[in-house]
Amino acid sequence: GSMLVSGIQPTGAFHLGNYLGATKTWHTIARKLDPSSQMVLFIADLHSLTVPQNYSVLKKQRFEAYASLLACGLDPAKVTIYHQAAVPEHTQLQWALTCFAGMGLLNRMTQWKAKADLKNDAQIQNELGAVKLGLFAYPVLMAADVLLFNATHVPVGQDQAQHLELTRDLVSAFNKQTKTKFFHYPKTLMAPSNKILNLRDPSKKMSKSDPDELTKITITEDPKSMRMKIMKATTDSIDGPLTFDPEQRPGISNLITIYSAIANQTIEETVPQIKDLSKRDLKELVAEAVVKELQEPNRVYKELMSSPDLLHKLSLEGADKARAVASKNLKEVYKILGMDMEK
Ligand code: ATP
Ligand code: MG
Repeated sequence: GSMLVSGIQPTGAFHLGNYLGATKTWHTIARKLDPSSQMVLFIADLHSLTVPQNYSVLKKQRFEAYASLLACGLDPAKVTIYHQAAVPEHTQLQWALTCFAGMGLLNRMTQWKAKADLKNDAQIQNELGAVKLGLFAYPVLMAADVLLFNATHVPVGQDQAQHLELTRDLVSAFNKQTKTKFFHYPKTLMAPSNKILNLRDPSKKMSKSDPDELTKITITEDPKSMRMKIMKATTDSIDGPLTFDPEQRPGISNLITIYSAIANQTIEETVPQIKDLSKRDLKELVAEAVVKELQEPNRVYKELMSSPDLLHKLSLEGADKARAVASKNLKEVYKILGMDMEK
Protein backbone atom coordinates (compact mmCIF):
# COMPACT_ATOMS: atom_id res chain seq x y z
CA GLY A 1 0.00 0.00 0.00
CA SER A 2 0.97 3.64 -0.29
CA MET A 3 1.67 6.06 2.52
CA LEU A 4 0.73 9.62 1.59
CA VAL A 5 1.89 12.44 3.83
CA SER A 6 1.48 16.21 3.60
CA GLY A 7 1.07 19.27 5.78
CA ILE A 8 -0.12 22.84 5.92
CA GLN A 9 1.08 25.72 8.08
CA PRO A 10 -1.25 27.41 10.58
CA THR A 11 -0.19 30.81 9.29
CA GLY A 12 -3.70 32.10 8.64
CA ALA A 13 -6.90 31.32 6.82
CA PHE A 14 -6.58 28.86 3.94
CA HIS A 15 -6.75 30.55 0.57
CA LEU A 16 -7.79 29.52 -2.90
CA GLY A 17 -4.22 28.43 -3.69
CA ASN A 18 -4.11 26.10 -0.69
CA TYR A 19 -7.55 24.83 -1.64
CA LEU A 20 -6.87 24.17 -5.33
CA GLY A 21 -3.18 23.28 -4.97
CA ALA A 22 -3.46 21.17 -1.83
CA THR A 23 -6.65 20.39 0.09
CA LYS A 24 -8.91 19.73 -2.90
CA THR A 25 -6.36 17.28 -4.31
CA TRP A 26 -5.94 15.63 -0.89
CA HIS A 27 -9.71 15.23 -0.71
CA THR A 28 -9.81 13.58 -4.15
CA ILE A 29 -6.94 11.25 -3.23
CA ALA A 30 -8.51 10.39 0.16
CA ARG A 31 -11.77 9.40 -1.53
CA LYS A 32 -9.98 6.93 -3.81
CA LEU A 33 -7.66 5.45 -1.15
CA ASP A 34 -7.51 1.65 -1.24
CA PRO A 35 -7.77 -0.18 2.12
CA SER A 36 -4.04 -1.00 2.25
CA SER A 37 -3.04 2.67 1.89
CA GLN A 38 -2.99 5.50 4.40
CA MET A 39 -3.10 9.27 4.28
CA VAL A 40 -1.59 11.47 6.98
CA LEU A 41 -2.09 15.25 7.12
CA PHE A 42 -0.60 17.49 9.75
CA ILE A 43 -0.81 21.11 10.82
CA ALA A 44 2.83 22.18 10.53
CA ASP A 45 2.82 24.28 13.69
CA LEU A 46 6.52 23.69 14.46
CA HIS A 47 7.33 25.29 11.13
CA SER A 48 5.51 28.45 12.17
CA LEU A 49 8.17 29.01 14.82
CA THR A 50 10.78 29.70 12.12
CA VAL A 51 9.56 33.30 11.90
CA PRO A 52 8.46 35.60 14.77
CA GLN A 53 4.86 35.01 15.84
CA ASN A 54 2.31 36.30 18.27
CA TYR A 55 2.06 33.02 20.19
CA SER A 56 -1.50 33.38 21.43
CA VAL A 57 -2.62 34.18 17.88
CA LEU A 58 -0.64 31.18 16.68
CA LYS A 59 -2.43 28.95 19.17
CA LYS A 60 -5.77 30.11 17.80
CA GLN A 61 -4.61 29.65 14.21
CA ARG A 62 -3.57 26.06 14.94
CA PHE A 63 -7.20 25.19 15.66
CA GLU A 64 -8.50 27.30 12.78
CA ALA A 65 -6.22 25.31 10.49
CA TYR A 66 -7.63 22.08 11.90
CA ALA A 67 -11.17 23.27 11.26
CA SER A 68 -10.17 24.40 7.77
CA LEU A 69 -8.89 20.96 6.81
CA LEU A 70 -12.16 19.39 7.89
CA ALA A 71 -14.08 22.17 6.14
CA CYS A 72 -12.30 21.29 2.89
CA GLY A 73 -13.95 17.88 3.15
CA LEU A 74 -11.17 15.85 4.76
CA ASP A 75 -12.64 13.19 7.02
CA PRO A 76 -10.73 12.45 10.27
CA ALA A 77 -12.22 8.94 10.28
CA LYS A 78 -10.43 8.13 7.01
CA VAL A 79 -7.39 10.40 7.13
CA THR A 80 -5.06 10.89 10.11
CA ILE A 81 -5.19 14.64 10.83
CA TYR A 82 -3.20 16.10 13.72
CA HIS A 83 -0.96 18.86 15.04
CA GLN A 84 2.74 18.27 14.48
CA ALA A 85 3.69 19.69 17.91
CA ALA A 86 1.55 16.96 19.54
CA VAL A 87 3.82 14.28 18.05
CA PRO A 88 7.34 14.77 19.46
CA GLU A 89 8.75 12.09 17.14
CA HIS A 90 8.92 14.74 14.38
CA THR A 91 11.75 16.58 16.10
CA GLN A 92 13.40 13.40 17.32
CA LEU A 93 13.73 12.21 13.75
CA GLN A 94 14.76 15.68 12.64
CA TRP A 95 17.80 15.57 14.93
CA ALA A 96 18.95 12.30 13.41
CA LEU A 97 18.47 13.69 9.90
CA THR A 98 20.32 16.95 10.60
CA CYS A 99 23.34 14.71 11.15
CA PHE A 100 23.06 13.59 7.52
CA ALA A 101 22.25 17.00 6.00
CA GLY A 102 25.04 18.93 4.26
CA MET A 103 25.19 22.64 5.04
CA GLY A 104 25.83 23.29 1.34
CA LEU A 105 22.59 21.54 0.36
CA LEU A 106 20.59 23.57 2.89
CA ASN A 107 22.27 26.75 1.74
CA ARG A 108 20.90 26.14 -1.76
CA MET A 109 17.27 26.08 -0.54
CA THR A 110 15.60 29.28 -1.70
CA GLN A 111 12.65 29.64 0.68
CA TRP A 112 14.60 30.54 3.81
CA LYS A 113 16.27 33.36 1.89
CA ALA A 114 12.88 34.66 0.81
CA LYS A 115 11.46 34.44 4.33
CA ALA A 116 14.53 36.19 5.77
CA ASP A 117 14.11 38.73 2.93
CA LEU A 118 17.65 38.19 1.65
CA LYS A 119 18.09 38.88 -2.04
CA ASN A 120 21.73 38.32 -2.95
CA ASP A 121 24.93 36.70 -1.71
CA ALA A 122 26.40 39.90 -0.31
CA GLN A 123 23.30 40.58 1.75
CA ILE A 124 23.29 36.97 2.97
CA GLN A 125 26.93 37.27 4.14
CA ASN A 126 26.12 40.53 5.92
CA GLU A 127 23.00 39.39 7.68
CA LEU A 128 23.72 35.75 8.36
CA GLY A 129 24.05 36.53 12.07
CA ALA A 130 20.38 37.48 12.19
CA VAL A 131 19.14 34.36 10.37
CA LYS A 132 17.77 31.83 12.84
CA LEU A 133 19.08 28.28 12.77
CA GLY A 134 15.49 27.02 12.76
CA LEU A 135 14.73 28.91 9.55
CA PHE A 136 17.88 27.57 7.89
CA ALA A 137 17.21 24.01 9.06
CA TYR A 138 13.47 23.76 8.48
CA PRO A 139 13.76 21.80 5.23
CA VAL A 140 15.26 19.03 7.39
CA LEU A 141 12.18 19.14 9.62
CA MET A 142 10.09 18.89 6.45
CA ALA A 143 12.07 15.82 5.45
CA ALA A 144 11.52 14.37 8.94
CA ASP A 145 7.79 15.10 8.64
CA VAL A 146 7.37 12.78 5.69
CA LEU A 147 10.08 10.23 6.52
CA LEU A 148 8.57 9.75 9.99
CA PHE A 149 5.81 7.84 8.20
CA ASN A 150 8.17 6.45 5.58
CA ALA A 151 6.01 8.17 2.98
CA THR A 152 5.81 6.79 -0.53
CA HIS A 153 4.02 9.85 -1.94
CA VAL A 154 3.87 13.51 -0.96
CA PRO A 155 1.03 15.54 -2.48
CA VAL A 156 2.16 19.20 -2.50
CA GLY A 157 2.08 22.32 -4.66
CA GLN A 158 4.85 23.29 -7.05
CA ASP A 159 6.49 25.59 -4.49
CA GLN A 160 7.51 22.55 -2.44
CA ALA A 161 9.36 20.66 -5.19
CA GLN A 162 12.78 21.82 -3.99
CA HIS A 163 12.16 20.59 -0.44
CA LEU A 164 11.16 17.16 -1.72
CA GLU A 165 14.41 17.04 -3.67
CA LEU A 166 16.31 17.60 -0.41
CA THR A 167 14.26 14.87 1.26
CA ARG A 168 15.35 12.43 -1.41
CA ASP A 169 18.98 13.50 -0.96
CA LEU A 170 18.65 12.77 2.76
CA VAL A 171 17.12 9.35 2.06
CA SER A 172 20.06 8.58 -0.15
CA ALA A 173 22.59 9.78 2.45
CA PHE A 174 20.89 7.88 5.29
CA ASN A 175 20.41 4.61 3.40
CA LYS A 176 23.97 4.71 2.08
CA GLN A 177 25.68 5.51 5.35
CA THR A 178 23.64 2.97 7.35
CA LYS A 179 23.86 0.36 4.55
CA THR A 180 20.10 -0.12 4.67
CA LYS A 181 17.17 0.53 2.38
CA PHE A 182 15.08 1.77 5.26
CA PHE A 183 13.55 4.91 3.80
CA HIS A 184 11.55 4.94 0.57
CA TYR A 185 12.26 7.68 -1.94
CA PRO A 186 9.03 9.65 -1.63
CA LYS A 187 7.46 10.69 -4.93
CA THR A 188 6.02 14.16 -5.38
CA LEU A 189 2.36 14.27 -6.43
CA MET A 190 1.72 17.71 -7.93
CA ALA A 191 -1.79 19.09 -8.05
CA PRO A 192 -3.01 19.29 -11.66
CA SER A 193 -3.56 23.04 -11.35
CA ASN A 194 -0.55 25.29 -11.41
CA LYS A 195 0.43 27.68 -8.65
CA ILE A 196 -2.36 30.14 -7.91
CA LEU A 197 -0.96 33.67 -8.01
CA ASN A 198 -1.30 36.74 -5.82
CA LEU A 199 -4.34 38.70 -7.05
CA ARG A 200 -2.64 42.10 -6.74
CA ASP A 201 0.84 41.13 -7.90
CA PRO A 202 0.81 38.08 -10.18
CA SER A 203 4.60 37.86 -10.10
CA LYS A 204 4.18 36.24 -6.67
CA LYS A 205 2.18 33.25 -5.49
CA MET A 206 -0.89 33.62 -3.31
CA SER A 207 0.34 33.20 0.30
CA LYS A 208 -1.35 32.88 3.68
CA SER A 209 1.36 34.94 5.28
CA ASP A 210 0.85 37.92 2.94
CA PRO A 211 -0.53 40.68 5.19
CA ASP A 212 -2.48 42.32 2.32
CA GLU A 213 -5.96 40.74 2.38
CA LEU A 214 -6.66 41.86 -1.20
CA THR A 215 -3.98 39.50 -2.54
CA LYS A 216 -5.88 36.34 -1.60
CA ILE A 217 -9.30 34.75 -1.32
CA THR A 218 -9.80 32.73 1.83
CA ILE A 219 -12.27 29.93 2.46
CA THR A 220 -13.48 31.76 5.57
CA GLU A 221 -14.59 35.09 4.09
CA ASP A 222 -18.06 35.98 2.89
CA PRO A 223 -19.04 35.70 -0.79
CA LYS A 224 -19.33 39.45 -1.19
CA SER A 225 -15.70 39.99 -0.34
CA MET A 226 -14.62 37.05 -2.54
CA ARG A 227 -16.38 38.69 -5.49
CA MET A 228 -14.94 42.12 -4.74
CA LYS A 229 -11.36 40.78 -4.67
CA ILE A 230 -11.71 38.97 -8.01
CA MET A 231 -13.25 42.06 -9.62
CA LYS A 232 -10.24 44.09 -8.37
CA ALA A 233 -7.63 41.53 -9.46
CA THR A 234 -4.71 42.96 -11.45
CA THR A 235 -4.89 42.04 -15.14
CA ASP A 236 -3.32 43.87 -18.11
CA SER A 237 -4.15 46.48 -20.74
CA ILE A 238 -3.78 44.21 -23.77
CA ASP A 239 -6.75 44.46 -26.18
CA GLY A 240 -8.41 41.74 -28.25
CA PRO A 241 -9.26 38.14 -27.38
CA LEU A 242 -8.22 36.78 -24.00
CA THR A 243 -5.24 34.43 -24.14
CA PHE A 244 -3.47 32.11 -21.72
CA ASP A 245 0.04 33.55 -21.57
CA PRO A 246 1.63 33.30 -18.10
CA GLU A 247 4.64 35.40 -19.21
CA GLN A 248 2.92 38.38 -20.86
CA ARG A 249 -0.48 38.10 -19.17
CA PRO A 250 0.04 36.55 -15.73
CA GLY A 251 -3.10 38.10 -14.20
CA ILE A 252 -5.50 36.88 -16.92
CA SER A 253 -3.73 33.52 -17.00
CA ASN A 254 -4.17 33.18 -13.24
CA LEU A 255 -7.93 33.71 -13.61
CA ILE A 256 -8.03 31.10 -16.37
CA THR A 257 -6.09 28.67 -14.15
CA ILE A 258 -8.51 29.22 -11.28
CA TYR A 259 -11.53 28.71 -13.49
CA SER A 260 -10.09 25.56 -15.07
CA ALA A 261 -9.21 24.04 -11.70
CA ILE A 262 -12.71 24.63 -10.36
CA ALA A 263 -14.42 23.42 -13.54
CA ASN A 264 -12.15 20.32 -13.54
CA GLN A 265 -11.03 21.00 -17.07
CA THR A 266 -7.71 21.71 -18.78
CA ILE A 267 -6.54 25.19 -19.79
CA GLU A 268 -6.92 24.10 -23.44
CA GLU A 269 -10.57 23.27 -22.79
CA THR A 270 -11.21 26.58 -21.03
CA VAL A 271 -9.57 29.04 -23.44
CA PRO A 272 -12.05 28.64 -26.35
CA GLN A 273 -14.93 29.07 -23.88
CA ILE A 274 -13.71 32.39 -22.54
CA LYS A 275 -11.56 34.00 -25.23
CA ASP A 276 -14.23 36.36 -26.51
CA LEU A 277 -15.32 37.61 -23.08
CA SER A 278 -14.37 41.05 -21.83
CA LYS A 279 -11.99 41.11 -18.87
CA ARG A 280 -14.89 42.17 -16.72
CA ASP A 281 -17.04 39.25 -17.85
CA LEU A 282 -14.20 36.81 -17.26
CA LYS A 283 -13.92 38.14 -13.72
CA GLU A 284 -17.68 37.77 -13.21
CA LEU A 285 -17.47 34.18 -14.42
CA VAL A 286 -14.51 33.36 -12.17
CA ALA A 287 -16.08 35.09 -9.17
CA GLU A 288 -19.27 33.08 -9.61
CA ALA A 289 -17.33 29.80 -9.84
CA VAL A 290 -15.18 30.61 -6.80
CA VAL A 291 -18.12 31.61 -4.62
CA LYS A 292 -19.99 28.44 -5.54
CA GLU A 293 -16.94 26.21 -5.00
CA LEU A 294 -16.14 27.67 -1.57
CA GLN A 295 -19.74 27.77 -0.34
CA GLU A 296 -19.62 24.41 1.43
CA PRO A 297 -16.13 24.84 3.00
CA ASN A 298 -17.26 28.28 4.15
CA ARG A 299 -20.38 26.89 5.82
CA VAL A 300 -18.67 23.89 7.46
CA TYR A 301 -15.84 26.08 8.75
CA LYS A 302 -18.25 28.38 10.58
CA GLU A 303 -20.09 25.41 12.01
CA LEU A 304 -16.90 23.76 13.31
CA MET A 305 -15.57 26.96 14.83
CA SER A 306 -18.62 27.03 17.06
CA SER A 307 -17.75 23.54 18.41
CA PRO A 308 -14.30 23.95 20.03
CA ASP A 309 -14.76 20.82 22.18
CA LEU A 310 -15.29 18.67 19.12
CA LEU A 311 -12.24 20.15 17.39
CA HIS A 312 -10.13 19.53 20.47
CA LYS A 313 -11.29 15.94 20.80
CA LEU A 314 -10.70 15.16 17.12
CA SER A 315 -7.22 16.67 17.15
CA LEU A 316 -6.21 14.62 20.22
CA GLU A 317 -7.50 11.45 18.55
CA GLY A 318 -5.59 12.35 15.39
CA ALA A 319 -2.37 12.81 17.36
CA ASP A 320 -2.80 9.39 19.00
CA LYS A 321 -3.28 7.72 15.64
CA ALA A 322 -0.23 9.50 14.21
CA ARG A 323 1.96 8.61 17.20
CA ALA A 324 1.14 4.93 16.90
CA VAL A 325 2.81 4.83 13.46
CA ALA A 326 5.48 7.47 14.12
CA SER A 327 6.88 5.95 17.31
CA LYS A 328 7.24 2.54 15.67
CA ASN A 329 9.16 4.00 12.72
CA LEU A 330 11.31 6.21 14.92
CA LYS A 331 12.29 3.21 17.06
CA GLU A 332 13.49 1.40 13.97
CA VAL A 333 15.52 4.41 12.83
CA TYR A 334 17.13 4.81 16.24
CA LYS A 335 17.90 1.09 16.30
CA ILE A 336 19.65 1.34 12.94
CA LEU A 337 21.67 4.20 14.42
CA GLY A 338 22.64 2.14 17.49
CA MET A 339 20.46 4.29 19.74
CA ASP A 340 18.20 1.54 21.08
CA MET A 341 18.41 0.21 24.65
CA GLU A 342 18.42 -3.48 23.83
CA LYS A 343 21.30 -5.52 25.30
P1 ATP B 1 2.86 30.65 3.99
O1 ATP B 1 2.77 31.94 3.27
O2 ATP B 1 2.71 30.80 5.48
O3 ATP B 1 4.05 29.81 3.60
P2 ATP B 1 1.26 29.21 2.13
O4 ATP B 1 0.11 29.92 1.54
O5 ATP B 1 2.50 29.13 1.29
O6 ATP B 1 1.55 29.83 3.55
P3 ATP B 1 1.63 26.51 3.11
O7 ATP B 1 1.02 26.12 4.40
O8 ATP B 1 3.09 26.87 3.07
O9 ATP B 1 0.78 27.73 2.50
O10 ATP B 1 1.39 25.35 2.06
C1 ATP B 1 0.36 24.37 2.17
C2 ATP B 1 0.13 23.67 0.86
O11 ATP B 1 -0.47 24.59 -0.08
C3 ATP B 1 1.42 23.19 0.19
O12 ATP B 1 1.16 21.92 -0.39
C4 ATP B 1 1.68 24.21 -0.88
O13 ATP B 1 2.39 23.66 -1.97
C5 ATP B 1 0.27 24.63 -1.29
N1 ATP B 1 0.23 26.02 -1.78
C6 ATP B 1 0.59 27.13 -1.09
N2 ATP B 1 0.39 28.24 -1.82
C7 ATP B 1 -0.10 27.83 -3.02
C8 ATP B 1 -0.49 28.52 -4.20
N3 ATP B 1 -0.44 29.84 -4.29
N4 ATP B 1 -0.96 27.78 -5.25
C9 ATP B 1 -1.03 26.42 -5.16
N5 ATP B 1 -0.67 25.71 -4.07
C10 ATP B 1 -0.20 26.39 -3.00
MG1 MG C 1 4.33 28.28 2.08
